[in-house]
Amino acid sequence: MVSKRIVLTFPHKLVDQPIVYKLVKDFDLVFNILQAKITPQEEGIMVLELKGKKENYAEGIKYLTSAGVKIQPLNQDVSRDENKCTHCGACVTICPTGALYTDKKTMKVIFDADKCIACELCVKACPPRAMIVKL
Ligand code: SF4
Ligand code: SF4
Repeated sequence: MVSKRIVLTFPHKLVDQPIVYKLVKDFDLVFNILQAKITPQEEGIMVLELKGKKENYAEGIKYLTSAGVKIQPLNQDVSRDENKCTHCGACVTICPTGALYTDKKTMKVIFDADKCIACELCVKACPPRAMIVKL
């Protein structure tokens, strides 16, 4: 089983095509859209978590490439220095994926790395610089 987070860039001619649907139907892959930005007449960018059997994953990627979709791995990782975080909450409303959220019981800010798409918005917003980009 393979599970990877990738960035897909669609040229404008493919923006309204059921490309991602075909990954499920023809290649038995499971996807989770982490972020999507589609501009009609221009291009679309989608951050996906894609899972499936190794051979199906490879075939799915081959299909995307042959269809004209540019694929880049999401290889930047963002982590949090727990010693620096003051749980001020400044990052919570900025995070587009809900990877940073406030636990209602403890009122502490939780970082869920699995939901992070490494957009780095929190890095600049964090007063004590607790959010770190690992290259
Ligand atoms: S902005 Fe920084 S210090 Fe404040 S809760 Fe978020 S990670 Fe913690
Ligand atoms: S980099 Fe920060 S703001 Fe962006 S998704 Fe990850 S935790 Fe949220």
